[in-house]
Amino acid sequence: MIPNPPRHSPRPPVAALFAIAMAILACNTPPARGEEAAASAPAPASAASSAESAHARSHAETMRRTHLVRLQEHLEKPEDDLRRTCRFESDIATLPPEGVVALTFDDGPEPGHTEQILAVLARHQVPATFFLIAEKAKAHPELVAQARALPGAVIGNHSWSHPNFHDIPVAEQSGEVDRADALLHADLGTAPLFRYPYGNSSCETNELVHTKGYRIVGWHVDSCDWAFDGPNGLSAAEALSCGVLPAYRRDFLGHVVASVRAHRGGVVLMHETQHISVDNLDALIVKLQAEGYKFSTPAAPEYAASLR
Ligand SMILES: [Zn+2]
Repeated sequence: MIPNPPRHSPRPPVAALFAIAMAILACNTPPARGEEAAASAPAPASAASSAESAHARSHAETMRRTHLVRLQEHLEKPEDDLRRTCRFESDIATLPPEGVVALTFDDGPEPGHTEQILAVLARHQVPATFFLIAEKAKAHPELVAQARALPGAVIGNHSWSHPNFHDIPVAEQSGEVDRADALLHADLGTAPLFRYPYGNSSCETNELVHTKGYRIVGWHVDSCDWAFDGPNGLSAAEALSCGVLPAYRRDFLGHVVASVRAHRGGVVLMHETQHISVDNLDALIVKLQAEGYKFSTPAAPEYAASLR
């Protein structure tokens, strides 16, 4: 049975959070949690794991920065301006099909993680969508083939090299889309899906991808898997930006499940690069299935109203 919570986002009203957020931003927080984590982390076992954890940390830092910029813009700029410039359109405003969850994994393929994710999905016969960074797909074609072989799997375009589209000119944005499209074309199917890196959109690229036949996929549930990695849980600003309730600031699984419940389904954003998503995937699927949720992909007709 699907529980019956109120059908609204778990995020508290923006106005009520304004003062807290401004205080946070005025202090120029968050503290450098990534650095604290690095300092207190146990010594890496090998050069490979050291490189991997350094990569994960730098990814988390970039995610943290882009989230804080987004939060700041939401607080400082009129919503009409943000809407007119198509700036942050990845938070899906429409409700998902009731009781249906679409797991999505960004930023892969990721050697070591992709295989584990696919094994868990296959064991539970759950479909998923993989928004690939084409540059990485080119380096790991065998992982792309494995992902495609998962029954019900969908491959999506997540740009060539994952820049922040708000930091690059429009011509470069279209180059990123086109180059990824050229490499992934055969994997994308006849109704291709696109997801913006960091969810940072522009009107011009919206138009471009629509011309190319893409539909744009955001998310209902942001797992913020990158933020749960430190020993202290999420900072206040991260929790605010990610819609993580205070009770779940140290509880990744609890946050994702609560957010799915609040939406009664939805597109869930996770990252192949983040081990916390890999490590919790089995438990997440078991928990959601036990609560009666079914799994699908944003490409399914029932999700049409959630895409742009
Ligand atoms: Zn990404």
